Amino acid sequence: MPVEQEPAPPPSRPWLSLVIPLYNEAESLVALHRAVLDALGEGDYEVLFVDDGSTDESFGVLKELQRQDPRVRIIRFGRNFGKAEALAVGFREARGEVIVTMDADLQDDPREIPTLVAQLPQGYDLVSGWKQERQDPWSKTFPSRVFNLVTSFFTGVQFRDFNSGFKAYRRRVVEELKVYGELHRFLPVLAYWKGFRVTEVPVRHHPRRFGRSKYGPRRFLAGALDLLTVLYLTRFHRKPLHLFGSVGLICVSLGLLVNLYLTILWFSGEPIGTRPLLQLGVLLMVTGVQFLSLGLLGEMLTFTAVEGKPRDHVYELVEPPEPPAPWDHGAPPPLAAGGPAALPSRGEAR
Ligand code: UDP
Ligand code: MG
Repeated sequence: MPVEQEPAPPPSRPWLSLVIPLYNEAESLVALHRAVLDALGEGDYEVLFVDDGSTDESFGVLKELQRQDPRVRIIRFGRNFGKAEALAVGFREARGEVIVTMDADLQDDPREIPTLVAQLPQGYDLVSGWKQERQDPWSKTFPSRVFNLVTSFFTGVQFRDFNSGFKAYRRRVVEELKVYGELHRFLPVLAYWKGFRVTEVPVRHHPRRFGRSKYGPRRFLAGALDLLTVLYLTRFHRKPLHLFGSVGLICVSLGLLVNLYLTILWFSGEPIGTRPLLQLGVLLMVTGVQFLSLGLLGEMLTFTAVEGKPRDHVYELVEPPEPPAPWDHGAPPPLAAGGPAALPSRGEAR
């Protein structure tokens, strides 16, 4: 008979995972690690650095930090994939119930971690740090302000700071969210549209001490395109025909009106063959039909994607209290093994 083996003890899971993406931040890392230790002390946490293909000494510094502190875990990319990918892998490897992300350049202050985390028990699933007094050059803060206004207007998420990398999440949020490309700026929007509760709290912010920002002015063009992606994914992802179909129907209707008018003219003997209006009418009808077909194609894709995956949102189910069993007059029920099942918590995946 095979000897029954003792099951291996489960790997210890810290309560909090700090995920820090970094790209060429060697000078900041020792001070950052020190600041984290000072802020969190002997708490139950891990520090997961994601080295996004740094070409400086960052990895060596991280190895040295790990030698001194067993809480330090390192993920290393072979090349630079970008912050969103670094966060995605950090989310996958993080073991904590609560995940906090922060930048590695000492601009986010680890002493604010408790401020962010303190909001989670208030019923929130994602808490974002609002750099109320942002310590960056004007050329960065002004376009950023415009970006924040536009994003909150279009997405319905009333945040004042979407560019913050300093956030706290409940575990189930990072398990549900897909982050890729440069969509890290829109994590609160994606979470909100999935049904999670999101909020923002003011946090301290410091100027960059070492190295330089990894994002130039190009980020604003990228941000605008990403906003378009996010708007499309959150509003029309499940009903593409509503977007393309409306545009298509408007075009076809206008084209029909124009062509009807020209037909009447033609029957009344006027030549219409050289009129620019005829070109417009035909163009409207053709593009309208194209928009409609695009929408239907989108619906087909959505239908195929939805099959076997009926849910892309989270919800809570509040049941009425169980009526007492007929035999229950204060005595425990006859089959009381283990007590009542745990209630599903908010946003639990079903
Ligand atoms: N970062 C990264 N991969 C990149 C670019 C940036 O991991 O391709 C990290 C960077 O090292 C820093 C954080 O993302 O820890 C924020 O970058 P940065 O400070 O350059 O952005 P800013 O504060 O200027 O918005
Ligand atoms: Mg920075």
